[in-house]
Amino acid sequence: MRIDLHTHSDRSDGTESPAELVKRAHAERVDVLGLTDHDTTESWQEAADVAERVGVTLVRGIEVSCTYAGSGVHLLAYLPDPTYPPLAEELDRVLAGRNSRLPATLERLRDLGIDIDVHDVRRVAGETAAMGRPHVADALVALGVVADRNEAFDRFLGPQGPAYVHRYAADLETMIRTVGDAGGVTVLAHPWARRHDHSALDHDGVARLRDAGLAGLEVDHEDHRPEVRERLRELARELDLVVTGSSDYHGLGKIGHELACNTTAPEELDRLLRLAADAAARTSRDTPEVLVPR
Ligand code: AMP
Ligand code: ZN
Ligand code: FE
Ligand code: FE
Repeated sequence: MRIDLHTHSDRSDGTESPAELVKRAHAERVDVLGLTDHDTTESWQEAADVAERVGVTLVRGIEVSCTYAGSGVHLLAYLPDPTYPPLAEELDRVLAGRNSRLPATLERLRDLGIDIDVHDVRRVAGETAAMGRPHVADALVALGVVADRNEAFDRFLGPQGPAYVHRYAADLETMIRTVGDAGGVTVLAHPWARRHDHSALDHDGVARLRDAGLAGLEVDHEDHRPEVRERLRELARELDLVVTGSSDYHGLGKIGHELACNTTAPEELDRLLRLAADAAARTSRDTPEVLVPR
């Protein structure tokens, strides 16, 4: 079984359509695909239609932009009812923050002497519902300012970069509860990834999040070195959290994150799906099914 629980389509900052992503998963013999675009469920319908047709088990999710103790944290939310009003309203707030950041980012770039406007970004952003820095990076590539997304983040868009602008993100503990109330389950994405401040995600911090309903930790991720993975796995064991592994695939948008380069063990997926079924039953929300091919 090849289980990859964290991937992106072009409805956020991946480079392939949901249909292309599902077909690629099928071609690469991925049995279970988690589709987790940033802050949006726009990709769900198209992916579900194709998954049923080609025969990939699809777990619909969202990677929600959150904040915890002053730092950005990504939360994987699987199988929540996306129409649950507190969830839908908070995702709208996060998406509004993305849209209002864009003009400010472009202003900074123009101050640096780069001739770029919103049309340059819209042109490369395609069907995205979650406008982000990667799209600005793609526009900079198209304008010949940088060679690739990486260079754009290193020189301009990263947290220390001259064109970095803060945006709104959801409170992490509240979002964990909200996803649970929406009948879904949550996993912390790449909790100890390089280039993130994760000092608040220590044993006690993660224990608090578990008490708020957190189900798991994404341990096997390219941004975790082997020692980091071992320490995180130990933490998950101590706190009785589900352990996941995934690629964080972005098509051509993220180098070194090939589909299924990390995977989740079948028994860990079973645990996660049981917790999701419990949440769905407890809340009576109309949650998405895990689409299993016939
Ligand atoms: P944003 O969502 O606008 O805050 O941008 C953050 C996203 O940019 C992350 O979720 C990553 O997918 C992506 N990202 C961050 N650093 C890089 C990088 N060096 N190269 C390509 N993509 C990146
Ligand atoms: Zn991304
Ligand atoms: Fe992430
Ligand atoms: Fe991601």
